[in-house]
Order: sequence, then C-alpha cells, then structure tokens
Amino acid sequence: MNPTDVLDRISIVLSRTSHPGNIGSAARAMKTMGLSRLVLVSPKCFPDPEADTLASGASDILVSARVVDSLDAALADFVFSLAVSARSRDLGPPPMLAREGAGALLQEAAAGKEVALVFGHETSGLSNDEVQRCHGAVMIAADPGFSSLNLAAAVQVLCYELRLAAYAGAPPLPAGITPFVSPPATHREQEGFYRHLEQVMVASGFLDPAQPKRLLPKLRRMFGRARLERDEVNILRGVLTAVEAWRK
Ligand code: SAH
Repeated sequence: MNPTDVLDRISIVLSRTSHPGNIGSAARAMKTMGLSRLVLVSPKCFPDPEADTLASGASDILVSARVVDSLDAALADFVFSLAVSARSRDLGPPPMLAREGAGALLQEAAAGKEVALVFGHETSGLSNDEVQRCHGAVMIAADPGFSSLNLAAAVQVLCYELRLAAYAGAPPLPAGITPFVSPPATHREQEGFYRHLEQVMVASGFLDPAQPKRLLPKLRRMFGRARLERDEVNILRGVLTAVEAWRK
C-alpha cells in the first residue's frame, strides 16, 4: 500500500485537551508528517483562534477534525488503538517504546485497518480507564527525571516515527534536497587501495618489507571501521598518486 494511504488510516485522538494552542500545534505536527485525521474528545475550547494561530498552515486539519464527547465515541470505528502515556500502569502489558508502537500501528494500517493513537490531558494525562480502552500503551523514552513532554511535542515525536515507519526509514525529502550517497567501495576497490598504500609506504621508506610488523593489519582494521565509500577510496588513491609523482 502507498505510504500516504497508510498514514491516512491513522488518526490522532486528543482527549480532553485544555489549551486550544496545543490542538493547533498538534495539527501542525501531524501535517508536517503527512497525517491528517484528528479526533478531539471534549476539548475545553474548540474551535478557537489560538488553535488556528498555532496550526499555522495546518488549519485544514482543524476544519476537518471530528469532535466527540467520549473516548468510546472517538474509538467506535477503529479496530486497533494505542494509548500514548508517560506513566506505566499496573494493569495491562508493559508499554512499547515510540518506535515499536509506530511499527505496530503501521502494520495494522498497512493491512487496511483503521487505527488510532490516543493522547491525554496536558496535566493529568490519560486516566487508567482511558488507557484500558486501548489495545496497548506507548511511551516516549524521555529523561526519567523529567519525562513529561508537551502534548503537541509528544504528538510530533509519534507522527515522526509513523512517517519513518511508513516510508521504511527513507521518507521523501523536500524538492531540491537529495542526500549525498556515494556507493560503498567494493572489495576489489579496497584491495586496490591497500596495495597502492603498501607500495607508497615501501617506496617512501615508511614500511620496511623485511620487518612489516603489524602495520598493514592495523591500517586495514582502521579503514575497515570507516566502511570506505568509493569516492573516498578514489580520494585516498589520488593522494597516493600525488605523493608518487612528487618523489620523481
Ligand atoms: N502528567 C501527565 C503528562 C501529561 S502530558 C502524565 O503523567 O501522564 C500530555 C500528554 O502527552 C500525555 O497524556 C501523553 O499522551 C503525552 N506524553 C507526554 N510525555 C510523554 C512521554 N514521555 N511518553 C508518552 N507520552 C507522553
């Protein structure tokens, strides 16, 4: 299934949000990651100019948001839902971390199911009753000494993980930006470099072939760690060629 269609099957549910600005910021967080379906359970103030302001260019998500008066009504038509919570609960399975939770939602959505991620109130979070209405819990691995993110920031982290999962780790980048990727050097290219390096080290007197010690294996280990790319091998061989020419 197309990644955009998969992301379209994932709804963000915000329960009992008290600051309309957080609703706007959450909409913006969603739209930057390609999600569009927002469900609001009993928001304190919505619609609200502050939500519009903080949504910035994502007010279309606010316009199409579904507003309901209970979590049961919000989740009625979904077949899978995860509660996003900073706290672990006594009951139920241990929480998944954000990446794993995003993967679980993606799997269901890619199979054509409608799924939801549920976020709690800014101060009190999700109640036990709300968490128990979901199929599992997700936690963002924040600093244990200060682990409560702003609501919209938590939405952003989860939506980013969903996007990476939907595009199998390689999401499309804005027009004009292409990550520079040089192919890795092949075995033959690496061996050509090592032979060349050895020749220059011998010719320059740095390496005594009668007493090589462990120099070559050590250099191999160092360059092996670097996982040389083809371009890098070419640069290194260019340096060696220049040194050879300089000697003459
Ligand atoms: N004091 C509340 C936190 C509320 S923050 C509590 O302890 O639950 C508002 C919402 O943001 C939470 O309900 C949750 O959905 C989300 N959130 C914030 N920090 C989080 C974290 N570290 N892991 C998962 N969700 C988090």
